[in-house]
Amino acid sequence: MRFQYLNYLSKLGFFGYAYLVQIFPRTDLNNLSLSIPFVINLGKIVSPEEFYGFKPGTDRKLIRWDKIMEYFWLLDGSSDRIKVEEVGTSTEGNPMLLTYISSPENLGNLDGIREMSWSIAHPEDLDEAEVERIISEGKSVVAMTMSIHASEVGGTQVASDFAYRLLTEEDELTKKIRDNVLLLLFPCANPDGQIMTVDWYRKNLGTEFEGCGLPWLYHKYTGHDNNRDALTLTQVETQIMNKVILKDWFPQAYIDHHQMVRHHNV
Ligand SMILES: [Zn+2]
Repeated sequence: MRFQYLNYLSKLGFFGYAYLVQIFPRTDLNNLSLSIPFVINLGKIVSPEEFYGFKPGTDRKLIRWDKIMEYFWLLDGSSDRIKVEEVGTSTEGNPMLLTYISSPENLGNLDGIREMSWSIAHPEDLDEAEVERIISEGKSVVAMTMSIHASEVGGTQVASDFAYRLLTEEDELTKKIRDNVLLLLFPCANPDGQIMTVDWYRKNLGTEFEGCGLPWLYHKYTGHDNNRDALTLTQVETQIMNKVILKDWFPQAYIDHHQMVRHHNV
């Protein structure tokens, strides 16, 4: 609820906030537990650095999935270039988020773009004119999933900054990407493992065990083989992502972000 309330507030902008200050007694506002960065940044898109208090990727700092979700919901309420959806929950009940990033026009035509993406991937019944129409009117659909192997932390850690840059940068290349590409981004492909990994890392930070691997599986049933589950679809996380990527959208490109690290440690 708190996320939704903050999203609502961020949509109001400065004047909306000023209005709220007038209609709420001061004590009530204090009870909203709004932090200072939220208040001073209402009406603009808060950067990851401002939100987390450090730049994602900073040495010895890992951001936990619940905080990353909070940031994505904030983006959802701050920009018309992103749409965030909770598309299910993980094995241990943590939300799975799917974010769409593109121009506002494209985000307003998700059904049309999805239909064209699916059709061009299954062109058996299309005549040449229809193929040409889809190529000229359609958008490139790109799917990305982050950190299915939870100890390969980079993908999920960088997701906030990646999204922020796509939403806010105004150089020609980024504008061209927003106009021509619809990004389907799963910022975290394995929320349970992400949380375990971050908690374990923080628990051992500054001790002689800092950086050692998890002593248990970071997916309740499949551990490191959760990506092999793409073959058999036995786990809810795989089922959710496969439904979006292969049943609903069939994107033109799909990148599953892994990470090469020594001994698979953080
Ligand atoms: Zn991997």
